[in-house]
Amino acid sequence: MKLIVATHNQHKIREISQILPDFEIIADDPEGVEENAPDFAGNALIKVRAIAAKHAGAWCLADDSGLEVEALGGAPGVRSARYAGEPANTPNNNALLMKNMAGVANRRANFTCAVALVDPAGVEHVAVGKCFGRIAEQPSGSAGFGYDPLFIPDGHDKSFADLTADEKNAISHRGRALEKAREILQSSGQSSNRLLSWLRFFRVVNLPTLPGDVMVGAAAILATSPKFESQAFVSTAYAAIAAMMVYLYGLADNDIVGAATDKGRPIPDGEISLAAARFARGLCWGAVLILGAVGNLPPFWWVATLVLFACIAVYNRTKSCLLMGLCRGLNVLCGAMAVCNDVAGGLGESRFTGRPLWLAAAVALLWTLYIAGVTKYSEGEELSPSKKKTVGMLIGALIYLQLGALVSFTLQCPALRAFLIVGACLLVLLRFMKYIMPKVSAS
Ligand code: IMP
Repeated sequence: MKLIVATHNQHKIREISQILPDFEIIADDPEGVEENAPDFAGNALIKVRAIAAKHAGAWCLADDSGLEVEALGGAPGVRSARYAGEPANTPNNNALLMKNMAGVANRRANFTCAVALVDPAGVEHVAVGKCFGRIAEQPSGSAGFGYDPLFIPDGHDKSFADLTADEKNAISHRGRALEKAREILQSSGQSSNRLLSWLRFFRVVNLPTLPGDVMVGAAAILATSPKFESQAFVSTAYAAIAAMMVYLYGLADNDIVGAATDKGRPIPDGEISLAAARFARGLCWGAVLILGAVGNLPPFWWVATLVLFACIAVYNRTKSCLLMGLCRGLNVLCGAMAVCNDVAGGLGESRFTGRPLWLAAAVALLWTLYIAGVTKYSEGEELSPSKKKTVGMLIGALIYLQLGALVSFTLQCPALRAFLIVGACLLVLLRFMKYIMPKVSAS
C-alpha cells in the first residue's frame, strides 16, 4: 500500500520505512506551509492536510516532533528545528541548548512526536509518542540527527546518537507514534477487508437485477387493469426491497449449506464465521417479514413469498436448475401479488381466471424457463472461462428482458413509465457496480 509522507528529511524517511516496512513510502514535502500551531499535533495536521489535498484517495502521513526540556519550561518544543533562529541549523541549536543547560541540575527532558494521518476517505487520525530521558552534560555519538547526541533515554547510559537505528526506533518517540499509526493503518485495512468480505458474501453487485422482476410482475397486472391506485407504486417498492432481502437470505443460506466445500467463498476462507453468516441470514428473513407487514402487502404476496423461501431452501440443497428458474419466476409473481389489492375493486373473481393474472403468470413462466435453461447450461462453468463469460452475459441479459417487458407495458399504460425510469436507473447502477467492484463480482 502506498503511503505519502510529508517530508524530504532522509533520516525521517529511513526511520519511517524501517518501522512501516509493508508500505511503499513516497515522500512529498508540503512546501510553503506555515507550521504555526501551538503543539506538535496541530503542526502535523497542517502538513498532512497540505499533502492530502494533492493526493486524494491515498493514505497520507506527516509528523511533527521536538525536544521538550523541563528546566526550560518545555523549550525548544515546537521551535526545536529553529531553536537558535533562522536558518535552521543543528550545530547552532545544539550549542544553544548546551549553553542554556550549563550548570542546570534538573536535566529531565522528553522527545515528543505527533503523527497525523489522513485516510483515503479523508478522515484524520493523530497518534502521539513520547520518549523520556535526560540532557547529557556533553554531546556524544555520531549516528542519528538533530539533538540525538545530547539526549540520553531512560534505561540507557548512552545518547540516541550512540544507539543503532534499530535500538533507537524501538524506544524513540517517533517509533512509538509510528507504531500507533501502524495500528490505525492496519485496523482500517482490516475493516475495509471485512466490508469487502460481506459484499462478496452477499454478491451485492447482482442486487440491482432483483427489483426489475417485481416491477415486471406488478406492471403486468397494472397495465391491463382499467384503473389502479397510486398505492400500487408503494406496494411495488415494498415488494421490490423484500425481493432483494429474500435474495440475500438465499445467498446466505447457500453459503451456509456449502460452508465446508465452497472453496473461495468467505466462510471457508475464514473471512466470515458460520455463526455470523447464520445471524445475517436471520436478519434478512426478519427484514422480509417486516417489509411485508409495514408495507401492508396482501395475503397472496405472503403466500408467493413463502413458496419462494421454500424453493430457495430446496434449491440450495439440491441445486435443481428448475428450482433456480422457479425462484426468479416467483419474484415476478410476488410483484403481481403485491399490487392485487391496488387495482379497482381488487382482482376479485378474476384473480385466478382474468387476463391480468394470466399475463403475469406467462411472464413468470418465461423467466422460470430462461433462468432454468441458463443454469442448466452453466453446469461445469468453472471448467471453462469462455463458458463462464457467456453465462455471465446471459444472466446479465435478464435486466434487458425486464426493460423490454417494462417498455411494452408502458406502451399499454403510460402511467407505468415510473417503472421504466427506475428500471433504466437500475441498469446503470448494475453496470456501475460491476465496474467499481470487480473484486466483489468475482464470486
Ligand atoms: P520536525 O518534526 O521535522 O519539525 O523536527 C523538529 C526538530 O526536532 C528536528 O529538526 C530536530 O532538531 C528535533 N528532533 C525531532 N526528532 C528528533 C530525533 O529523533 N532526534 C533528534 N532530534 C529530533
